[in-house]
Amino acid sequence: MDIIKIRQDFPIFSQKSGQNKSLIYFDTSATAQKPAVVIDALTRFYTSINSNVHRGLYELGEHATTQYESVREKVARFINAQHTEEIIFTKGTTEGINFIAASWAQEYLKPGDEIVLTQAEHHANLLPWQRVAQKTGAKLVFIPIDKETYTLKNPEEYITAKTKLLAVTYSSNVIGDIWDHSKQQLENLIARAHTMGARVLIDAAQAVMHRRIDIQQLNSDFLVFSGHKLMGPTGVGVLYIKKALHDDVQPYHLGGSMVFSVSFEQATWAKSPQKFEAGTPPIAEVIGLGAAIDYINKNINFDVLHKHEARLCSVLIDGLEKFKNIRIMGNKHWLRQHGHLVSFAIQDIHPHDIASYLGTKNIAVRAGHHCAQPLVHVLEVDSLLRVSFGVYNTLAEIETFLQELTHALELFGNHVSHKSCKNLEL
Ligand code: PMP
Repeated sequence: MDIIKIRQDFPIFSQKSGQNKSLIYFDTSATAQKPAVVIDALTRFYTSINSNVHRGLYELGEHATTQYESVREKVARFINAQHTEEIIFTKGTTEGINFIAASWAQEYLKPGDEIVLTQAEHHANLLPWQRVAQKTGAKLVFIPIDKETYTLKNPEEYITAKTKLLAVTYSSNVIGDIWDHSKQQLENLIARAHTMGARVLIDAAQAVMHRRIDIQQLNSDFLVFSGHKLMGPTGVGVLYIKKALHDDVQPYHLGGSMVFSVSFEQATWAKSPQKFEAGTPPIAEVIGLGAAIDYINKNINFDVLHKHEARLCSVLIDGLEKFKNIRIMGNKHWLRQHGHLVSFAIQDIHPHDIASYLGTKNIAVRAGHHCAQPLVHVLEVDSLLRVSFGVYNTLAEIETFLQELTHALELFGNHVSHKSCKNLEL
């Protein structure tokens, strides 16, 4: 995998800032950059086949439908789903989770039932369950994150006969991996949840661009991710629903293109995927997602990507460890082995100041609570800086980043402290 060649496929990297600085994009966890083939696919759709799907009995409409449906097959192959109709297109991860919360959980959960989450969930995989709990009387149970090791201790103890849903992230957008993959900790927990009669939802928003997802191996009942984190366009996501549950899950939206028959009084639904995709779907975006998957299949070897991103994490951690006043949040061993992001706090300096300074140097990082306020509070901070990588990032960019970080620390008056990191009151 030739990173420099791959980089040339992304038009955004040929732009310079006002100060003639190349973009250093360290915010792939927020959204990945798009290769030209994805952008071209959108333009091609609108310039040559724009029409609605599943409706028009004319050539354009048939083209659009064929292309749209071919992406469903690509996604199914990409995550190794057994059945194409298990793939439902949504607006993104957030919509996929709200979908299952409203259309399945609210229908089935009762007072006393438990929904098990981790303390590391993004708000997208927390707030919908809070509402389900309020509406049904079910209880939320959180598997704690160990503040020292950033690992989950004995998560299986939280799955009991009361558990009706395990809804957890595959990878945290703040601290990276939380599961011990060497011990198949996530897979074992899913198996335990099934043994206890619970259903499982996996938030794969962060994982999808960094590790091969095999849904049959993982064996969750639901899995969600966003197209934009997979180098595809915004406005499209994927909700996997295991075929055996298709009758149990109600449609989230009601409207055109999802019915078997309708009278003035009532309606019956078509089968999945139509049942779950009412209205005009994000056609161009789905086709753009298909182009992203084609691009990844052709150019990206996930094992090599893993090593590349882990090396970037490792070099960054080495650099950050030279600053005694920086505390890295995440399991450093795992980050060095298979990480794709590094979050950290700096004593006495607000991350927004650093991120703004870096922004003036055309370096894009994320600062804040990262839509995971409860986790950030568990880590006893208010805000963090996050550097997140994609296939297009290089070691040279990390060097520039570390130089600019040093300048920023000097500027904000925080010289390298001799205190031990452990004593930091961050
Ligand atoms: N879950 C995780 C772990 C995420 O990182 C994100 C995006 N930052 C989401 C859910 C929500 O994704 P989206 O905003 O694309 O719906």
